[in-house]
Amino acid sequence: MSAVEKKRCYYCIPCGYMYDPEQGDPDYDIPPGTAFEDLPDDWVCPLCGASQDMFEPEGD
Ligand SMILES: [Zn+2]
Repeated sequence: MSAVEKKRCYYCIPCGYMYDPEQGDPDYDIPPGTAFEDLPDDWVCPLCGASQDMFEPEGD
């Protein structure tokens, strides 16, 4: 049995925007419950346009 995976919030290093998997990103048609890892490759920070490799998982 695998434990329930808790999807992690990721924040944008340059601007501090937080991606919350429980909310998704309606502006990009990202449905709630979408993990950061499952975002489409062309998804970028909605605030500053930083690419996904500029994001870090929120600390434990
Ligand atoms: Zn940003």
